[in-house]
Amino acid sequence: MEKRDYYELLGVERNASLDEIKSAYRKKAMQYHPDRNPGNKEAEELFKQAAEAYEVLSDQDKRARYDRFGFDGVRGNSGSAGFNDISDIFSHFGDIFGGGGSIFDDFFGHTRRSSRGARRPIGEQGSDIKIRLPLTLGEIALGAKKKIKVRSYQQCSGCQGTGSKEGIGYTTCSHCNGTGEIRQVTRTFLGQVVNVTSCYACNGSGQVVKEKCPKCNGEGRVEGEHTVDIEVPAGVEANQYIVLENQGNAGRRGGPNGDLIVIFEEKPHPFFKKVGNDIVYELKIPFTTAALGDEVEIPTIEGSKKIKIEPGTQPNDQIVIENEGIPFLNKKKKGNLIAVVNINVPKKLNSKEKDLLRQLADSEHFSTTNKKGKDFFEKVKDTFL
Ligand SMILES: [Zn+2]
Ligand SMILES: [Zn+2]
Repeated sequence: MEKRDYYELLGVERNASLDEIKSAYRKKAMQYHPDRNPGNKEAEELFKQAAEAYEVLSDQDKRARYDRFGFDGVRGNSGSAGFNDISDIFSHFGDIFGGGGSIFDDFFGHTRRSSRGARRPIGEQGSDIKIRLPLTLGEIALGAKKKIKVRSYQQCSGCQGTGSKEGIGYTTCSHCNGTGEIRQVTRTFLGQVVNVTSCYACNGSGQVVKEKCPKCNGEGRVEGEHTVDIEVPAGVEANQYIVLENQGNAGRRGGPNGDLIVIFEEKPHPFFKKVGNDIVYELKIPFTTAALGDEVEIPTIEGSKKIKIEPGTQPNDQIVIENEGIPFLNKKKKGNLIAVVNINVPKKLNSKEKDLLRQLADSEHFSTTNKKGKDFFEKVKDTFL
């Protein structure tokens, strides 16, 4: 379609005022609006051309160039960009569409809104909730099903999240005239600077409730709590987390829920220490057991187990019990239980025990370190002096 003269297209005189141009454009835009001419390519083209005409004629500089040089004067970077996308036009001339206010609203209602890019939906996405979930070693080793209560925003039951008093509905925001944006135009020596911010009164949605739901004061959500079922897989580590979608805070005015992020923590165990997937246990045995060897019972995650102490076991010797540790996440493999030997020296002895030990002390394998140690210390001296 051939481009038509901007003035002719809008049906205004060449000396028309800005107000006349604005009002003419609004009429043309309504006439050719895609919602009123579904599938009509010619109307769509005229709708775009009218927007372009308005873009040029509403700008003093561009209009002057157009008046002198025609289309050539406004082509390229300094001129009209032209519009390829209908939604560009809406976001570009939001003030016009909303500015006259009701004309457009009355004609196009919600259809027009949905085709606009700049405006946010009425509902606002709820935020995520993060919680920390302490787990016992047993829960980490075996996995667990837990029910926990989470403080959260819940959809308001008084208005089903809409924020509007029952049956009353929404109306165009008067602060932004339904555009969802506040535009501030500042003239500087470089030209016009347009600062666009989201409207505070309607959170950028362009619409406000006519009468607020008294239960939630128009928020569409109330503070509350909800119960969540959490399945903890066996083998999780501290600081690992799972994300439960839509279990976070309800959104404002019916917006989608946020997520719930559950971060795992490890509760300290009275006698086991988790090292990676292994469990370390300090096994205290009397020195007689260490010397003679024996069978002793040690605790495991699920119960207890008998293990063999070899004769001559030394302090800090490690006895490894395979597959009694923590499972690897999503694997069949398990870590080990490691018993680290500590020798228990009795703090009290009765006279009989003392006699027996004194006899032992003089025997072949119990001679004290100090007796033998003389040689040892002599050697140390030699190496240092
Ligand atoms: Zn409510
Ligand atoms: Zn607003």
